[in-house]
Amino acid sequence: YSLDSFCIPKHYEDDLESVLIPYGVIHDRIERIAKDIFTDFGKEPLVAICVLKGGYKFYTDLIDKINSLNRNQGERSVPLSVDFIRLRSYQNDKSVGTIEVIGGDNMESVKGKNVLVVEDIIDTGRTMMKLLGLLEEFQPKCVKVASLLLKRQPASNGYIPEYCGFEIPDKFVVGYALDFNERFRDLHHICVVNNNGINKYKV
Ligand code: 5GP
Ligand code: MG
Ligand code: MG
Repeated sequence: YSLDSFCIPKHYEDDLESVLIPYGVIHDRIERIAKDIFTDFGKEPLVAICVLKGGYKFYTDLIDKINSLNRNQGERSVPLSVDFIRLRSYQNDKSVGTIEVIGGDNMESVKGKNVLVVEDIIDTGRTMMKLLGLLEEFQPKCVKVASLLLKRQPASNGYIPEYCGFEIPDKFVVGYALDFNERFRDLHHICVVNNNGINKYKV
């Protein structure tokens, strides 16, 4: 969508090419994913792990909607516990190749539990494969992944999440907690950065 149709903060006005997914659409899609998760996990406790920082908005919106189903569906509800892990793999718009775990909870809490990993975007799939390998060591009962975005990426390792919000073209996107060198997380919609934005914020 053209930027003119949306409210964009003044400080990002010149840095974006287009709005790819407006917040309202994100919101509706998450409502549906929450319903699918609620249906699939039944009454069993679920450990929901947020992959920081990019996953934080998707995570809070998703958990809010699952909680709302928990309150309103009567017969059954999914007991939730929350956990966080922080990974870093990107500088500028390129993966630096190595994936670091730079903080998070003690993962012992996943032993014997159903686990839902909540991630912002899957690009090559390498970050997720690394994280899933790491989690396996703590012997969860089962692990499923919800990723808001999945890139159509020729270099993908073929990994597909159980729950996916949107498949997107192979462009660098920001907003709704996704960053370019820590910028744009405060943008409401998911947008495509332009060259001006890249040159302004590259390191
Ligand atoms: P992968 O290991 O799948 O190649 O990359 C996954 C991570 O790279 C994501 O969790 C995210 O942090 C970052 N990433 C990949 N593509 C994009 C993108 O288009 N925009 C942003 N902001 N981050 C991305
Ligand atoms: Mg991420
Ligand atoms: Mg990032």
